[in-house]
Amino acid sequence: MNYTKKLIVEPGTKVRLKQFDPAYQGKEGKGDAEQDVDKELAAVKVKLGDLQRKMYGDNQHSLLIVLQGLDAAGKDGVCWHVIGGMDPQGCKVQGFKVPTATEAAHDFLWRIHPHAPAKGEVAVFNRSHYEDVLVTRVHQLVPRKVWERRYDLINEWERLLAVENGTTILKFCLVVSKEEQLKRFAERLDDPDRQWKISDSDYKEREFFDDYLDAFDEALERTSTEHAPWFTIPCDHKGFRNLAVGHIVLEAMEALDLKYPKPTVDLDQIRREYHAAAVEETGGGKRKKG
Ligand code: AMP
Ligand code: MG
Repeated sequence: MNYTKKLIVEPGTKVRLKQFDPAYQGKEGKGDAEQDVDKELAAVKVKLGDLQRKMYGDNQHSLLIVLQGLDAAGKDGVCWHVIGGMDPQGCKVQGFKVPTATEAAHDFLWRIHPHAPAKGEVAVFNRSHYEDVLVTRVHQLVPRKVWERRYDLINEWERLLAVENGTTILKFCLVVSKEEQLKRFAERLDDPDRQWKISDSDYKEREFFDDYLDAFDEALERTSTEHAPWFTIPCDHKGFRNLAVGHIVLEAMEALDLKYPKPTVDLDQIRREYHAAAVEETGGGKRKKG
């Protein structure tokens, strides 16, 4: 399957997440054959790691991956299972929580911009500036006329990064069904390793599930652009979710034609003049017995 073509939100199209199927896992029904999914994902991760190290070495391109989604859809899971294949040198994940007093006293992009990827870097946003048209809108944390302006401001800011500065931007909306979300909350309650993730806001926010879907609809419709497209990812099956995100990122990185840079020194000269002399000095590279 071509995940990019299948899951992209084409700029200008209507989005209705209430009609979206979060349990979709491709015609082949991949989620059932867990071993095949694991094998395919492992191969994708190796390729992602390889390309990301080239991006770091080459120091010309940058990649921004935005992860948004309903609670328990799997933002953390994507970081662990997909991004985890990349080298921490040159790849960073930044989470965005409730703004601090200082952050809230600035414009909404103030806390975001310093985390945009520099050349050579991959930056992953676990939540992002989109919270300011999602949670902010659902709970009317600022007046409508303030958050309504933000779609255009976001488009402008992303244009600055992508068009003016050559950053590849990929935005993922992770969609889980209400039933699967509750199942995952229950699993967290029973799993001592995941109990730390539970917050009472999870259940409070769940009451606003449909409002969030409406807020996502408008955000995706208004901010999926040629230079910063959204992808809607069905997340009820974790294997499909990981493969979908992995393949879309992989395809975008492959399109950059990344290569390790050429050496900046004369290798023959280094071999002749320096390396040979160093070998000579250490007795042919052999350790002395003793
Ligand atoms: P988590 O990602 O589960 O650790 O939760 C982080 C919480 O911070 C979520 O409830 C988000 O909705 C909230 N949050 C993130 N950004 C903002 C924002 N700009 N305004 C209000 N709440 C936010
Ligand atoms: Mg949470």
